[in-house]
Order: sequence, then structure tokens, then C-alpha cells
Amino acid sequence: MRVLIAEDSGPSRLVLEKTLLRWGYDVVSCRDGEQAWEELGKRDAPQLAILDWMMPGYSGPEICKMVRQRAREPYTYILLLTSRSEREDLIEGLESGADDYITKPFDQNELNVRLRTGLRILDLQAELVQAREALREQAMRDALTGLWNRRSILEYLEKEQARARRERAPVALILLDLDHFKLVNDQHGHLVGDEVLREAARRLSGSVRPYDGVGRYGGEEFLVVLPGCDAGCLGGRAEGVRQAFSDTPFNVGGKSLHVTASLGGTLYFPDDDISTSELIRTADDALYGAKSAGRNRCMLRQAAAVTLPLPDPVESAAR
Ligand SMILES: [Mg+2]
Repeated sequence: MRVLIAEDSGPSRLVLEKTLLRWGYDVVSCRDGEQAWEELGKRDAPQLAILDWMMPGYSGPEICKMVRQRAREPYTYILLLTSRSEREDLIEGLESGADDYITKPFDQNELNVRLRTGLRILDLQAELVQAREALREQAMRDALTGLWNRRSILEYLEKEQARARRERAPVALILLDLDHFKLVNDQHGHLVGDEVLREAARRLSGSVRPYDGVGRYGGEEFLVVLPGCDAGCLGGRAEGVRQAFSDTPFNVGGKSLHVTASLGGTLYFPDDDISTSELIRTADDALYGAKSAGRNRCMLRQAAAVTLPLPDPVESAAR
């Protein structure tokens, strides 16, 4: 564990350094407040800091206030170092956001115990952050397939639409629906059906670019958002996905199943005055077209009549 020491008195700093090194800490030593503030602003700054109260540059409490205002993660645990005469001002020190204090000249055992308290708090805080991140991740994911859930993929689409307007680049989307999925469930049971959905998610993720967004939109329906993808790219991606399904049977539950998908695609251009839901509706229309035309195919439709250079509909038929 790295500990930052900020102390303007040379002898006192030296004692602190030696003591902490002996206890196995890595020490970042600073001789004034300014240097301490700079060190604490670095990426990967020490999470434990011992700050002298009175220092040139910034005082200990001033640094505390600035660190707390910045409210950055991970948390910085701060011990203030005070001389006996400053003891009455301790309330002020603690109100500035310090976690604890120790009086100079310090007692080694006391310092040891207080540092360990700090470590314990930092550990707990790290666990909390981890748990919170895990919950956030869980809330964004579809439990069965591990893909983004409907809400997350729609949020992603909205964000990409906004970005498309800023960067003057298109965004493509594909709505994919497994063909005759009800039959899989009816003939092979829901466990096999779930396996098919998982395998579909894998193939879908595997046949788009790493920065494309893939989500489970509904039961056996998936939504793919492809930033910066123009008409040619969309047609190619959609056909690639279709083949990734139809060309190789799904091996699930000891069975080899021929699973195909129908895809509907559309494009969003920066000048289009089209909402996210209108885009989805257009992709859904295209998907419906692909289904009506016999399934296992891609169809592209345009949302705005004016700007989209797509022949309508573009169709890639199954063989
Ligand atoms: Mg001092």
C-alpha cells in the first residue's frame, strides 16, 4: 500500500518515512502542500495520505477540502498531523473532510493502529464500489444471454444517434428475429430453446464489430446498433449475420438444429429528423417484410424518404 506523507519539517518527515517503510508501506514524500496536492491529483495517487496541518502552499485542511470537493474514486483516506497547540482547532480539521488525526510528536503504536483503520475503511469502500458496479452491470444485462437488455440497447441507440448528429456520420440498426422459434420450444422444450437463444447471442456478437451494440430486444428478437455504418456496410453486416445463423447448424442439447433468422435493417443520417422509436419501427417494418417474403433473409428500409441512398427494399434472399 502506498502512503503519501506531506510534512514541511525535515526531521519529522524523515521519522515518518522511516517508520512507514519499516512497516512495509511504500512512501510518497512531499515537503509542502502544493507538492502533496499535485501528487494526489495524479492517476493512481496513493489512497492513504498523512498531511501536516501547517505547511507552505496549502495547509492540511485546505488539501482535505479540495480532495473532497473533487469527490473522485477511489476514496482517499486522510490523516491530519497536528501539533498539540493546534488541538483545539481539530473540529475545523475534521470538518474539512479529514478522516482522522494524530498529534505530533506521534506515538508509533497509535500511528500504526490509525493507519490500519484507514486500510480497513479503504477495503470496505473498494468492496462497496465493486458491489455497486456489479449491480449496475447486472441491471444492464439480459440474464439469459448476457447481452444488453432492451433498455440498455435503446439507450445506446439514442446515444449513437446524438453522436451521429455531432459527428455527421450515419448509424445503422438491425432488428433480428429467429425464424419459427416457437417450434423449437414446442418440439425440444424450453431448456433447448434457451440454449438456442444463447447460441444466437454468441453468433450475433461474433459477426459484428467489437464496438457495435448488441442487445436482446424481446423474446427471440435482437437489436444491433452499428455506429458509422453506411448502406453498404449495413447490407454486408446483415447478410453476414444471416449466414452466421443459417450456414452452420446449432448444436444444442445433443441435437443439431437448423436455425435461421430474418433481419430488418435501416439507417439513420444526421440530417434525418427521426426519433429512436421511428427508427425501430422502420427496422421492424423491414423485418416484417423479410418474414413475409419467406424468412431467412435481410431487408433494408429507409426511415426518411429524402436522404437515404438505399434501394427500397434491398433484399438478400435465402438460397
Ligand atoms: Mg508543518
